[in-house]
Amino acid sequence: MTTTRRELLSAGLVAAGAAATPVLAGAQEPGHDHDHQAVPSDPTLRVKALESLLVTKGIVDPAALDALVDTYEHKVGPRNGARVVARAWVDPRYKQRLLAHSTAAIAELGYGGEEGEVMLVVENTARVHNLVVCTLCSCYPWPVLGLPPVWYKSAAYRSRSVIDPRGVLREFGLKLPDDVTVQVWDSTAQVRYLVLPERPPGTEKMSEQDLAALVTRDAMVGVAKVTVPEGAKL
Ligand code: FE
Repeated sequence: MTTTRRELLSAGLVAAGAAATPVLAGAQEPGHDHDHQAVPSDPTLRVKALESLLVTKGIVDPAALDALVDTYEHKVGPRNGARVVARAWVDPRYKQRLLAHSTAAIAELGYGGEEGEVMLVVENTARVHNLVVCTLCSCYPWPVLGLPPVWYKSAAYRSRSVIDPRGVLREFGLKLPDDVTVQVWDSTAQVRYLVLPERPPGTEKMSEQDLAALVTRDAMVGVAKVTVPEGAKL
């Protein structure tokens, strides 16, 4: 589920238009007199208006913005976390350090800093599945995963992950057996979580680098498992 910068921009402008007409909308529809709460905050709208102006004047290239956001959302960030996971899969002593002293072990690979000052890595096993959410806002481990995806910040994911984690996982296409315990971790400004997914069976001979290529952002948030694509060289 990828929302480009441009789509966000147009969504903001649509929302801004909606904000100006709630009374009118209510008047047109009998019984529909409540005020919808989907309007972004004032600073958000200002930023969107400014971006829109810069794009219109040709100062900013929307394609370049999309590429930049895409890089942080899908490539740079998650690739860092994937290297951490792959190292833990091939090096049992690193894995021990990672689970016992997550922040320090992640720093061994050169990752850390803002939005990842205190990290906790939680391990998925055959018996336990971990899922990460931020119920309050969108706290996310930037140094290892990059920018949070749009769905991670949605009200639906934030509330339902706690109330019905198995239902949420099913919607992501992940059906867990009943005997697997689901643990939900609520991120905060103080502690950010990274899921250490299970190493897929049949990958014993793969190199650390090839293993890292299998690890996805979603698996490190806990909404997916790591799988081996069909035809992959094992
Ligand atoms: Fe948050």
